[in-house]
Amino acid sequence: MTLERSIGPITEEQAAVATVARQFAAARLAPRAAERDRTGAYPLEEMGALGELGLLAMKVPDSEGGGGTDNVGYVLAMEAIAEACASTAVILASSNLVAKLLCDYGTPAQKAKWLRPYTQGRLGAAAFALSEPGCGSDAAALTTTAKKDGDSWILDGAKMWITSGAHAGFHLVFARSDGPGPGGISCFIVDRGTPGLTIGKEEDKMGQRASGTVALHFDGCRLPADHLLGERGHGYAVALGALGAGRVGIAALSIGLAEAAFGYGLAYARERKAFGKAVVDFQNTQFVLADCRTELDAAWLLSLRAARLLDTGDKAAAESSMAKLFATEASSRIIDKMLQLHGGYGYSRDYAIERLYRDSRVTRIYEGSSEIQRIVIARDLLGKR
Ligand SMILES: Cc1cc2nc3c(=O)[nH]c(=O)nc-3n(C[C@H](O)[C@H](O)[C@H](O)COP(=O)(O)OP(=O)(O)OC[C@H]3O[C@@H](n4cnc5c(N)ncnc54)[C@H](O)[C@@H]3O)c2cc1C
Repeated sequence: MTLERSIGPITEEQAAVATVARQFAAARLAPRAAERDRTGAYPLEEMGALGELGLLAMKVPDSEGGGGTDNVGYVLAMEAIAEACASTAVILASSNLVAKLLCDYGTPAQKAKWLRPYTQGRLGAAAFALSEPGCGSDAAALTTTAKKDGDSWILDGAKMWITSGAHAGFHLVFARSDGPGPGGISCFIVDRGTPGLTIGKEEDKMGQRASGTVALHFDGCRLPADHLLGERGHGYAVALGALGAGRVGIAALSIGLAEAAFGYGLAYARERKAFGKAVVDFQNTQFVLADCRTELDAAWLLSLRAARLLDTGDKAAAESSMAKLFATEASSRIIDKMLQLHGGYGYSRDYAIERLYRDSRVTRIYEGSSEIQRIVIARDLLGKR
């Protein structure tokens, strides 16, 4: 069954970005994915190349130096990258989110200073710093402060779990500039190496081990006034808007992991013999494969529906959440079943399925946990927006 038959026509441009991503993933990401997992080494070298290919800013228009694709193109490319290396895929997810925000909210001067060099691959990845040690799901409770001091802003506080935090050329940091609640939050651009910003130790994670996840500490971190992105007090709305579209990207990332796992599971079941026949010849195996393929196609359909709605400018918050909720949960189920088909070998680090199992777990936690997605969906269906 071809993807196109299940999701409708893909434009030449959407197919082109997916092909670029797939070729890069096969040549530069897949061969060292296991090594990256083992060493935790951040794919620094690959970031420059991804920037030059337009993959760090896929949805930024050509005229602004970006990849010029839409959400459908982004989903296809993200799936291709994740099939090869989930650590690189999540780095791309946060970098693309930042690029789109800079494009949508940046002044011409801000775009010239950050977006242009970024899209030319000169700043490496970019980091999105919203979560804090004391709050993640309840991001509106954040306590990092931004105080106005003459022509400057001074940031104090800490961020937690920041993907690419140690390596990004710059960070988008959400901080409390005004009163309590969502209306008191603003968004700031913070360059790597700014005095008063220190980078915490890298988190020793279960999976996606090469994505450079760190805490950021701000201690009297002084920023010129023009580092405020968007309007003062509008930071929370900016963050939430970005996350809605970002969720479709994480859905695609989890589909990429599940597609890879499905390929490994099928190949192993064809090769492995038990009770005198190939494991794939047991009806139970065939039913497992049929169920997994069905779930995978359902995840694709939900994700492409959300991406298409985003592209036509329709309201898509609930649909994006459904895509993320279903795709990430289905991906975990599928990878678990594919590991089961490997028997004892699936439990060994010598087999890629073991890494995929660990890599997939976090997709149900970050960019809004499964519980938060259910809240968004329920709020929409009960009309409480
Ligand atoms: C590897 C990794 C990379 C990350 N990258 C980034 C990044 O680049 N930038 C960034 O800003 N953040 C990042 N995060 C943070 C991530 O977005 C948060 O971990 C996530 O939002 C959950 O927040 P929390 O960890 O504080 O959990 P909590 O918010 O403390 O939640 C704990 C549990 O309670 C549940 N829960 C919370 N509220 C409700 C509710 N109202 N109803 C029902 N259940 C609820 C949650 O679903 C969860 O199961 C990353 C996290 C990880 C692990």
